[in-house]
Amino acid sequence: MTSKSTDKGVKEKITLQLTSEIIRHRLRSEGARFHANDNISEYIFPGELESLEKEVAMRVKELLKSLLIDVDNDHNSQETAERVSRMYINEVFKGRYKKQPKVTDFPNAKNLDEIYTLGPISVRSACSHHLVPIIGDCWIGIKPGDKVIGISKFARVADWVFSRPHIQEEAVMILADEIESLCEPKGLAILVKAKHFCMCWRGVKEPNTSMINSVVRGDFRHDPSLKQEFFELVKQQPSALSCN
Ligand SMILES: [Zn+2]
Repeated sequence: MTSKSTDKGVKEKITLQLTSEIIRHRLRSEGARFHANDNISEYIFPGELESLEKEVAMRVKELLKSLLIDVDNDHNSQETAERVSRMYINEVFKGRYKKQPKVTDFPNAKNLDEIYTLGPISVRSACSHHLVPIIGDCWIGIKPGDKVIGISKFARVADWVFSRPHIQEEAVMILADEIESLCEPKGLAILVKAKHFCMCWRGVKEPNTSMINSVVRGDFRHDPSLKQEFFELVKQQPSALSCN
């Protein structure tokens, strides 16, 4: 074999490697965690997301074939694999593959130290166990520190964090970590109330059950009256903490 043909062989081998294998190798060699609710955007190089989308479509097509769906002749299922792949990567799980939305912080020039509460912010996720939807509302309470961020930014960051496969308890913690690192508040409280489709669509089939969980940090944790004030403010909202 000439060296030219060896080169060609090596090149073909590289191009035939799956994009997910290349990215996984990069993640492992950097010691980076890539659980379902981790953001891995910094390990994805330009152009790789497009080829990952093609790879996922190919895999979804194989899944549909294993489910004995006639992807060649069923007009409703012919492009399903491509649609599902686009939906996972660019919409419902975009919080894994895309970078955090840009958030500018401003100095707290007026030294605001009263708490404020935002919500409901709608959150959409999917459970890591079955990949079926988790849909709900989120309320955020802030006692400002030296930095403030625009209120719409909380909704953007929540959407980015929740657009990954999750369990609700961890999603709330991850959102709290992100908000803390963005605006370093003196106190932070988050409450999420969500419906889990793995409880209403399958399994026990309980359509009215919601899960509520919360995290309190800083002054909200140390000062019970502040914590109570947050929960009272949230309770005044008609959709919060009610039965539906
Ligand atoms: Zn589930």
